[in-house]
Amino acid sequence: MLYFFTASEPIAYKNFKKTIQKPYPIKDSLNLLDPVTIEKLKLNNSDKKVCMWGAKPGPSNFRNWNNIEEGDSILAYSRGEFLYYGKILCKTPKPNQLLAKEVWGTNKDGQTWEYIFFIKDLTKINIDKRKFNSFFEYGVNNNPFGFGLVKKENLERKLKGFKSIDDLIYYLNNEYVIADEELEDNSYQAAIEEKGFSNIEVDITPEPKPKNKPKTIRGQKVWTRDPVVAKRVLKKAEFKCEINSEHLTFISNSTIKPYMEAHHLIPIKYQNEFPNSIDVDGNVVCLCPNCHRKIHHGTNEDKKELIQILYTKRFQFLQDWGIFTPFESILSYYKINE
Ligand SMILES: [Zn+2]
Ligand SMILES: [Zn+2]
Repeated sequence: MLYFFTASEPIAYKNFKKTIQKPYPIKDSLNLLDPVTIEKLKLNNSDKKVCMWGAKPGPSNFRNWNNIEEGDSILAYSRGEFLYYGKILCKTPKPNQLLAKEVWGTNKDGQTWEYIFFIKDLTKINIDKRKFNSFFEYGVNNNPFGFGLVKKENLERKLKGFKSIDDLIYYLNNEYVIADEELEDNSYQAAIEEKGFSNIEVDITPEPKPKNKPKTIRGQKVWTRDPVVAKRVLKKAEFKCEINSEHLTFISNSTIKPYMEAHHLIPIKYQNEFPNSIDVDGNVVCLCPNCHRKIHHGTNEDKKELIQILYTKRFQFLQDWGIFTPFESILSYYKINE
């Protein structure tokens, strides 16, 4: 299990500084703890100072707190970033209001953070929420909130590639790179529209290409997409939609060509899973703006139909570019599961 708690509001942030950013001097409050918990703290050399957290009363907090077990993994989040990673050392056997009030006080409604747990092996990490959302396949704008559990089925699927949750967190903290489309999508289409297409050579030999080096954008490692690849694909498609060449569009003011958009059939955020670059001609398709929005925002049925058409066209090219992917995997990249 991988739990997380968040401390973004001013009062929670104050608690965070007090008992997560630095260990709390629990030795002065042992009289408010039961002997079994004291013994557990002692065994871990944590009966003088310990990192601790508490959740406020409420049914979902209670359920999570009740379910956590010693040794479970936990992430601490504040204001856009996961900042610490550790393991549950133990929890109080019952909600402990007295200790919570002594450590953190009460909020304006008189509640306190009485579902208390102690944390060991707390290490500093720095995982941006966009990276977390991308990796665990939450929506781009998801905001971690409260005290919760990383979606079990997503964690299990992701864990297949790792020896343990520790390994996965290490990878997420150090190696996992997000895609530029998850930061913003406009600058890519704008770059494709820049200047003309006249000096773009369309006939290039398909062959596996090494992955691009991730770029650092606002302190984040990001897989970026090369607008020149997209320009080549648009020109080769003669600015016609690859779903249906009759699809209507309009004339672009900057290129004086029919306005078309480039789309990565295997989304660039899955670059992590491929040894070769997926930002290559074989994986980029030319779509009219309507089909492009549809493949991102349409119903599962519509998306599947578009993907099927594109996959049939690109099947051989994906192979030639060293990025062959079964149809079922492509559907799963678009979250279409059947
Ligand atoms: Zn797209
Ligand atoms: Zn179209």
